[in-house]
Amino acid sequence: MAFAKLEKKFFGTNGARGVTGKDMNPSFALGIAEAYGTLLGPGKTVGIGMDTRTSGPALDAAVKAGLTACGCNVIDFGILPTPALQYVILSKKLDGGVMITASHNPPEYNGIKIIEADGTEMGDERTIQIEQIYLNGESKPADWDKLGTAAEDFEAYKLYIDAIVSGFPENIGKGMTVAIDPGCGAACKTAPEIFKRLGCDVVVINPEFDGHFPGRLPEPSEEGLKNLSAAVVKSGAVFGIAHDGDADRAVFVDETGKFMDGNITLALLASYYAEQQPGGEIVTPVSSSGIIEAAGKEYGCTTLYTVVGSPYVARTMREELDMGRNVIIGGEGNGGVIYPKHQFCRDGGMSGAVLLALLAARNVPLSALIAKLPKYTMYQEKRTTPKAKEITAHMKEFFKDIPMDTRDGIRITKGGAWALIRPSGTEPLIRVYAESQDAAEAKELLDVILNEIKPFLA
Ligand code: MG
Repeated sequence: MAFAKLEKKFFGTNGARGVTGKDMNPSFALGIAEAYGTLLGPGKTVGIGMDTRTSGPALDAAVKAGLTACGCNVIDFGILPTPALQYVILSKKLDGGVMITASHNPPEYNGIKIIEADGTEMGDERTIQIEQIYLNGESKPADWDKLGTAAEDFEAYKLYIDAIVSGFPENIGKGMTVAIDPGCGAACKTAPEIFKRLGCDVVVINPEFDGHFPGRLPEPSEEGLKNLSAAVVKSGAVFGIAHDGDADRAVFVDETGKFMDGNITLALLASYYAEQQPGGEIVTPVSSSGIIEAAGKEYGCTTLYTVVGSPYVARTMREELDMGRNVIIGGEGNGGVIYPKHQFCRDGGMSGAVLLALLAARNVPLSALIAKLPKYTMYQEKRTTPKAKEITAHMKEFFKDIPMDTRDGIRITKGGAWALIRPSGTEPLIRVYAESQDAAEAKELLDVILNEIKPFLA
């Protein structure tokens, strides 16, 4: 099953984002919070969290003002990872949440992500309702005697750490060193503690909250993780882990300091569960590498593809589980992985714990596990064009005689290769992916597509 994407005005796939002082400011946050409080109705309780950005406190104050003015009670959980806020909302049975974060975007950005009572990111329909209330000026302020209350709980993130640690045998990381780079983001509070409690020795770089991100940008890119790689090699760590600004994603380097592609990470993490639950189901977007499907197949697991975006993966996982399927894991090739027995959102902290458990179970170096996976070559290109929709229509016709999946752009399969042609949801550009175990075959398919779309480019 697939969830179709609906057009939204301010909110993208992962919340509303903008540049501080321009399109992301307290007046916008106030308006969205009033609209959200109106949607929920008075008397409801909403948890608020933020990452470490300099604009966090101003937006946090505005969100609190908007919600309490509309009769909602708020609990401020302070700085914590997005998955920690999601876990806390679910376990404390709150009515919803607001996370103030721009995830992996540069420091000048910030954003607002709305969380449902079940801990998932709000779906398109209800997000559009909030936008409509905001745009139409239909927010309903509460009377003076019905205003919401504001409280603080800066210890609640510990529930999240407890939940992760309790899922693994005691001291599973004993004798192993892990190098950690929370990147001065929200994971400073959680990642070192998670590994320590799993029995590991830890080495931490960029360990303090800092919204200027002096060590590296919030996006854990290969370039940005050079210091982590060095720390891994120097300390003899079994791997290095880095998080984005809000720690829903985890990116790894192996014990030699080599950067791991997110698709390889998901393939390995999937194999941990696939081995325990052969025949299960893996859920991932159409943009993911075939290496994930191949890793699952080894244990008789099937892979179900969805539209691109973690909320769609999460909701598809829930739907599949409701239909009685054994969904073992889901996620994207960018380091965002969802563990259905834990919670239905991407969880960078959990990814670190699972990789540790995989190493403990197999008792071989991480690089050896990676070397055993089949080799795929994926080309990823993007081209600026105002005619992304025309390109999609043209390519649909061009490839009409070969197998095609049209749930998000066009995904075609040709011989041993597949390709995805997909318009961006937020920018005037088209993305083209092509992949095969045979690099030449992937390149050939990529070139055919790039050549065919040339007349549509700006
Ligand atoms: Mg993130």
